[in-house]
Amino acid sequence: MTTVTSDPVAGLTRVALPVGVNAVESVNMHVLTDGDRVTIVDCGVWRPDLPDGGLDAVEAGLERAGYALRDVSRIVVTHAHIDHYGLAGRLMELTGAELQMHTMTDLDCEKYRHPDTARARRRDTYADHGVSETERTDLADHLTRWMPYLHTVVEASRRLRGGEQLAIGADRWEVVHTPGHSLGHVCLWSQARRVLLSGDHLLPSITPPVTFERGFDADPLRSYLDSLRRVAERGPEHVYPGHGRPFGDAVGRIEAILRNKIRRLEKIRRAIQERPSSVTELADRLVAKAILAHQRQLALNETLAHIAYLRWSGLVERRARPDGVYEWYSTSDAPLDVHGRLAAS
Ligand SMILES: [Zn+2]
Repeated sequence: MTTVTSDPVAGLTRVALPVGVNAVESVNMHVLTDGDRVTIVDCGVWRPDLPDGGLDAVEAGLERAGYALRDVSRIVVTHAHIDHYGLAGRLMELTGAELQMHTMTDLDCEKYRHPDTARARRRDTYADHGVSETERTDLADHLTRWMPYLHTVVEASRRLRGGEQLAIGADRWEVVHTPGHSLGHVCLWSQARRVLLSGDHLLPSITPPVTFERGFDADPLRSYLDSLRRVAERGPEHVYPGHGRPFGDAVGRIEAILRNKIRRLEKIRRAIQERPSSVTELADRLVAKAILAHQRQLALNETLAHIAYLRWSGLVERRARPDGVYEWYSTSDAPLDVHGRLAAS
């Protein structure tokens, strides 16, 4: 006989794995007891700089939960960014575990299989939005810095769509599709425990970056805000994030993130109302001049995501300047309400 536990932490172990790439210090792997085996949620990076490839840290974490590598029967990846997914292929080889990810992670896999195409696409985006030629290559190299930490490109052996109930041990975990930070992002939600495994959808001390990339989500910020509301409706009491320590008061955290994103949206909109501007000009004016390449590319890609939101709300539009760079101009004075929605007229 099995009993469903409402103890939020029973059979759940958080393992912080070191990363050390592009200012990401560590990532959490969560170990969930699954009968006499385990399911792990996210798995960290392949470490080309270490003789064991980073497996020692994974094994030590499993051991702390009372298990060994051979006990891993399933890997759920919240989203296919390399800090959460890089080691998945190696772990599948070693354990025979199945890999469950959202069906949209196929796009990430394609990108990793053709990194040159992805880099060229980024360079084109940056050119269209006014980034100088010398800076373009440097910024588009973000992916190049991550690639050595990806062991192999593996697609999901079971593709998730959201709405599934995963039976893990005696518990049911609902798969909640939460696009925004990544189009193929999922959270796992246990109604009985009131626990959310949030990946990078909800983080304790930073507002998760929401960035635009051609060929992915046309309006990722809108997706993100909708996903936040979908999670808030469930009222999680304990959040286990992809980075950092677990925290409570998810709804308060969500409200703070919503306020932060909408404030940024208003700021960008006001700047465009003052004078038509390119994305590069907006990023330079509104985000303190970023020095490091990964900060600068984040500022540009986040600005692009905010502009997309304003554009699909019918508030701004673009035109090409004589040099081919897009500039954005205001097309409406209709106010946005506190939820970032167009106020009813
Ligand atoms: Zn992450």
